[in-house]
Amino acid sequence: MPATRIDGKKLAATVRGEVKRGAADLAETTGVIPGLAAIRVGDDPASEVYVRNKRRACEKAGMVSWEHHLSTETSQAELLALIERLNRDDEVHGILVQLPLPRSIDEAAVLAAVSPDKDVDGFHPVNAGRLMSGQPAPRPCTPKGVVRMLDELGIDLKGAEVVVVGRSNIVGKPVSLLLLERHATVTICHSRTRDLPAVCRRADVLVVAVGRPEMVRGDWVKPGAVVIDVGINRTEEGGLVGDVAYEEAAAAASAITPVPGGVGPLTVAMVLQNTLEAAQRWAR
Ligand code: NDP
Repeated sequence: MPATRIDGKKLAATVRGEVKRGAADLAETTGVIPGLAAIRVGDDPASEVYVRNKRRACEKAGMVSWEHHLSTETSQAELLALIERLNRDDEVHGILVQLPLPRSIDEAAVLAAVSPDKDVDGFHPVNAGRLMSGQPAPRPCTPKGVVRMLDELGIDLKGAEVVVVGRSNIVGKPVSLLLLERHATVTICHSRTRDLPAVCRRADVLVVAVGRPEMVRGDWVKPGAVVIDVGINRTEEGGLVGDVAYEEAAAAASAITPVPGGVGPLTVAMVLQNTLEAAQRWAR
């Protein structure tokens, strides 16, 4: 049977609809309109697109958004002062600092300056600690989207063999912890993993977040496995491909995400969901 192509766009639209209803409800009962402030430093074209998409989605969901676009020459002190101001602004419930930042700026210091309550990306060390210890907190958007996707597919994660390729702080580690929380047996792989194809072949659910075009081949996928490809790689011709060789992997998998149109749209939807949840906590 051909693999199910997991439609991330459709699921993202569902999530955006839920957020829109939640935002309307909040406005009606408390008068609070969820607000997201996005900060972008420099002129990275991909960042410009990401921020534009997030703001547009925000407004369509009945929430307010602001963009603070700073020049590449902005000092770290200026950026921290802006974050401090947004932390104190009652109309701002979520703050998003679009990465990457210019090299002259200490990314960790900037992420730690965002109030943990307004940290819609879930990157603040306090929120990372809360995730680690199973306490409620904003969860990182891409990992949260991956789990929602698996839930939507009706995958029983309890005891499932999950292999995550990649151990970054924004995808690999948090998605592993979220899946562990759901009682999966999680193996985390990275660039030093021995015989990566053999480890991947054990997976009932294979999550790949590496940043290497089509690295995962069809014979790395156990027949019937679910493959979630987080990777977004720009090819020389200007197209986008994932970290998984789609056609080959689809021949073995039971379900697989395409790139584009898989995990990406859900990440944006989860930014909205985290903003709504931050506003709901604030209004309580
Ligand atoms: P990072 O570069 O931070 O991390 C990559 C990870 O992959 C590292 O842990 C690295 O291992 C591992 N890795 C690299 N090469 C290999 C290899 N040959 N074999 C095994 N493991 C390897 O990337 P991110 O996590 O930030 O992003 C990963 C991908 O996901 C990118 O393509 C990015 O664009 C995409 N992305 C997509 C999002 C979405 O919304 N769809 C959101 C965020 C990211 P080591 O630690 O040992 O170096």
